[in-house]
Amino acid sequence: MKTVNHWIGGKTVEGTSGTYGPVTDPATGAVTTRVAFASPDEVDTAVAAAKDAYTTWRSSSLSARTGILFRYHALLDAHRDEIAALITAEHGKVHSDALGEVARGLEIVELACGITTQLKGELSTQVSNRVDVSSIRQPIGVVAGITPFNFPAMVPMWMFPLAIACGNTFVLKPSEKDPSAANLLAELAAEAGLPDGVLNVLHGDRVAVDALLNHPDIAAVSFVGSTPIARHIHATASANGKRVQALGGAKNHMLVLPDADLDAAADAAVSAAYGSAGERCMAISAVVAVGAIGDELVARIKERAERIKIGPGTDPASEMGPLITAAHRDKVASYVTGAAAQGAEVVLDGTGFTVDGFEDGHWIGLSLLDHVSTGSDAYKDEIFGPVLCVLRVGTYEEGVALMNASPFGNGTAIFTRDGGAARRFQLEIEAGMVGVNVPIPVPVGYHSFGGWKDSLFGDHHIYGNDGVHFYTRGKVTTTRWPDPADTPAGVDLGFPR
Ligand code: NAD
Repeated sequence: MKTVNHWIGGKTVEGTSGTYGPVTDPATGAVTTRVAFASPDEVDTAVAAAKDAYTTWRSSSLSARTGILFRYHALLDAHRDEIAALITAEHGKVHSDALGEVARGLEIVELACGITTQLKGELSTQVSNRVDVSSIRQPIGVVAGITPFNFPAMVPMWMFPLAIACGNTFVLKPSEKDPSAANLLAELAAEAGLPDGVLNVLHGDRVAVDALLNHPDIAAVSFVGSTPIARHIHATASANGKRVQALGGAKNHMLVLPDADLDAAADAAVSAAYGSAGERCMAISAVVAVGAIGDELVARIKERAERIKIGPGTDPASEMGPLITAAHRDKVASYVTGAAAQGAEVVLDGTGFTVDGFEDGHWIGLSLLDHVSTGSDAYKDEIFGPVLCVLRVGTYEEGVALMNASPFGNGTAIFTRDGGAARRFQLEIEAGMVGVNVPIPVPVGYHSFGGWKDSLFGDHHIYGNDGVHFYTRGKVTTTRWPDPADTPAGVDLGFPR
């Protein structure tokens, strides 16, 4: 069986804790790999390597850093297929979707290649007689990144390219469920010329995470994952004096107004709800139908959902793959089985689905629940599977009030032909990312990504300008160069007026 080990100081380092976790191919249910789980001592080793590398990397020239990042971009581009294949083998998503994930991660490497303009400081001359003031941003030190299973390449790439471009060094703790892509990302960075210790990959579970959160040499923590863990990461790292951004879970709503193009809305709902088997933090999991369109919209969603082909991610004909684990599949199924008792109409029931020849895979079909109530479990919880809830409201105002009452505020969308309503929605909705006739409004790399409310703990969104800000700290220098001809000002105990 393949073993995934740590990547520390520019080389593979075998795990010494004696603890390993199983990695499963979700399409077959077979354990294919074991991943080493780091002990607190191994966390110390990785952080020490990063701390050591920081002493020189922090003052490396911008052109040296961008030169490496440009080579890194070229290598990632050349290895897209290989990275995507590793994602499919351990996560289960279809190959085309995995390629999309790699492409969105590459966007952040592109952004990092342009760090020269992002790190330009500010200068004000002659703020007082012969006094100039300059503001610069400097790296913060060793940054830890803790990432979820659902984007094993993209989410790490939301973090480390920008962090290292800013002059920090990085310790990545990827999800233990699909760890291999992270090692390939680190190996390619080394091939691009990244000095040893600038990017380290440490595998493990909560033992490793808690050791990172409590480590005195970790300056900042970027986390992406579920809301309960995001809350824990934010509280613990903040209490330890670290800078922290912790992105959490979601329940993304799509408001469909009566004037919307219903075919476009149904296409968007199906793509956004069932893509990657619903295991996306930006998946649409609740459609809110306004006015009399509900029956027609549900009929069009059902018709499209029934045509989706489910199968192994390696089969080019598959549009949707399996779920990450059997336990997760069973949990997702329980929401569908319990929905009718809580008042919903089960329009499509995906439970009990299997794929011929792959009977042990973590399969579930597409489920569509109509007339879902806001008090039901299927509505309140983040299901994180291919289950779409439809809710009915009478007016735009009722729809927005329902959506704003959700504790989550990650992404949201409105489907309408009315520009005034779309503009009003953009201003009134309590979520961090808004789509107007766009169901999954993941911002491009040069705009930042982040939710509101229980979808993000901390002050900074991730990547874009917020990312540069998070990975740097400001310094302001006030300078006076007196002219030799000046008469010395003499002692003055007053505050400058
Ligand atoms: P998770 O919270 O279970 O795990 C995320 C990371 O935290 C992993 O590296 C894991 O090893 C670690 N972890 C898990 N339990 C821990 C504990 N008790 N203490 C310390 N560390 C712990 O999330 P997941 O299941 O891997 O990913 C799915 C979740 O991530 C969903 O809720 C999804 O919405 C969310 N997500 C959010 C975003 C976003 O941008 N907001 C993006 C992707 C995924």
